[in-house]
Amino acid sequence: MPEGDTIFRAARTLHRALAGQTVTVFQSVLPALSRVEVDSPVTGRTVGKVEATGKGLLLYFSGDLILLTHMLLSGSWHIYRPGEPWQRPGASMRIVVRTSAIEAVAFQVPIAEFHSTRSLRRRRGFNQLGPDVLTAGEDDTEILSRLRSHPDLEVGEALLTQSVLAGIGNVYKSEICFLCGVHPFRTVSSLSISERSCLTATARKLLRADVAEGASDRVMTHRGQRRTTGRADYEQNLWFYKRKGKPCRRCTMPIEARKQGSGARVTFWCPACQPYAASSARSQTV
Ligand SMILES: [Zn+2]
Repeated sequence: MPEGDTIFRAARTLHRALAGQTVTVFQSVLPALSRVEVDSPVTGRTVGKVEATGKGLLLYFSGDLILLTHMLLSGSWHIYRPGEPWQRPGASMRIVVRTSAIEAVAFQVPIAEFHSTRSLRRRRGFNQLGPDVLTAGEDDTEILSRLRSHPDLEVGEALLTQSVLAGIGNVYKSEICFLCGVHPFRTVSSLSISERSCLTATARKLLRADVAEGASDRVMTHRGQRRTTGRADYEQNLWFYKRKGKPCRRCTMPIEARKQGSGARVTFWCPACQPYAASSARSQTV
């Protein structure tokens, strides 16, 4: 699943390309979307803004029409100049938003819905989103308070719980726990104040590094090229992800992995750098 940084970068690039422009063509192979184009056309509307909300990407059109897309594992947005050949097969096209200068194409987005401000507010998943790690600013009061309201949740799962904080995906979850020396299967209630602060600050730092100026391009999809180790090469860019049984890059102990939480997403950790028992002794600090 793309993480918040991928969505944020996609939204920023789309915003720069589309904001203020009038839609000259709107196409979709998705019946629910093409019906809206017939009933109350998108063509002729102006793009107001494009923004990321958690893992959703929102395109705001004039007249209170909002297009929500969610990229999940397979989706991507591309930006082309009119007439430029697409880099993906036409059969995987789901949505085209064209202006006189730009053609934005969504490929294989599994979720795409039109909303009004009101219906979006009511939509499940959007009415309960926690603060977005990338846009919430430096004040973590709200995130920390939401964390405390889930004392029994395991830390690895809490980091993926969008009602606590929005934007972190499965790749970064394990990396954040490692960088803070926190075993991902500990409960939130066992975290010290400094560990909680470390988790939110590290999340922000990693995601921000990925959306820094210059990190964007015109093809916005999840390619697993993020880095947390400070190394750009693909084999060295992450501490843990998909490295079960391989030596920890810090202490050489074999990395462990286990499915976690209701979504059964795989979590990686180093048993030496992130001890469970020793850490638990510091509990009762909430
Ligand atoms: Zn280690």
